[in-house]
Amino acid sequence: MTMLLAVRDLTTTFETADGVARAVDGVSFDLAEGETLALVGESGSGKTVTALSILRLIPEPAGRIAPGSRIEFAGRDLLSLSPRELREVRGAEIAMIFQEPMTSLNPVLTVGTQIAETVLAHEAASKREARERALDMLRLVGIADAESRLKSYPHELSGGMRQRVMIAIALVCRPRILIADEPTTALDVTIQAQILDLLTDLKRRLGMAMILITHNLGIAAGIADRVAVMYGGRIVEVAPTVDLYREPAHPYTDGLLRAAPRLDGPDRPTPSIPGSVPPATDWPSGCRFHPRCQYAWERCQSEPPLLEAGPARTARCWLVDEPARRKP
Ligand code: SF4
Repeated sequence: MTMLLAVRDLTTTFETADGVARAVDGVSFDLAEGETLALVGESGSGKTVTALSILRLIPEPAGRIAPGSRIEFAGRDLLSLSPRELREVRGAEIAMIFQEPMTSLNPVLTVGTQIAETVLAHEAASKREARERALDMLRLVGIADAESRLKSYPHELSGGMRQRVMIAIALVCRPRILIADEPTTALDVTIQAQILDLLTDLKRRLGMAMILITHNLGIAAGIADRVAVMYGGRIVEVAPTVDLYREPAHPYTDGLLRAAPRLDGPDRPTPSIPGSVPPATDWPSGCRFHPRCQYAWERCQSEPPLLEAGPARTARCWLVDEPARRKP
């Protein structure tokens, strides 16, 4: 597989009233051509900041990508691109969709204009060509009566249709990577399944890679080739999706799996992980998960590195060395 994106030692900090928040702290991962990688974790684990760092959308000066971080896309160092070069990459080569389309769409422009504007911003196309592309994209994302929908304003569309429009805007320039940040969270369950099916289908047809950000391992299961689990600004487990579901190596992954609501499952309460993600200004010493971990022992007072936990998988947990401790 050809590597498309390489993130190395990414650290992103924010100045806050409570001190410096290390929202992302030494994160490394790769993304291959055509691959779907899910970044999974609770709110505050660092997933979205990782994605925003890749696109250099961290609000400065409060936010900052620390020296020593590296992000390479198709052999180019994204952290050293000029603002103009960066604009060429964003939207055209790496695109992002967000969880609440209403806040991302412009309420005073028709959806056709908004899709066409993306084409005009990145390509030498005429207005007529841009409009044709917008129409093709609306059809591709499954919007019925696309011709008349080009003239609709966002408030005239349902939540599911607005998310389809966001996907059309993101994909109209055929990016090589789509970053989808909780793309279905604001939608009801039936529409969620439709949007996930659409993303899977488009990814295959357009041959792009995808980073799916979600707090729900159930959603990642249906769509990702590999899963990277984040906690405390760090990656704590990476594994092929099938292996991770069969046997999670990290207790946090295990807790997320037990807590994951299933799109096709019975409507019953699911157990949650006790406690909550600590603030990024105050990560616990040692293993960052230890205050919430039922297996913690003395060794967990020092933080484990990512240890090899099987073929193509790693986990940041001392239990990988001492699995017998896990048995009841
Ligand atoms: Fe739990 Fe220790 Fe593993 Fe951390 S290193 S997840 S505290 S067992």
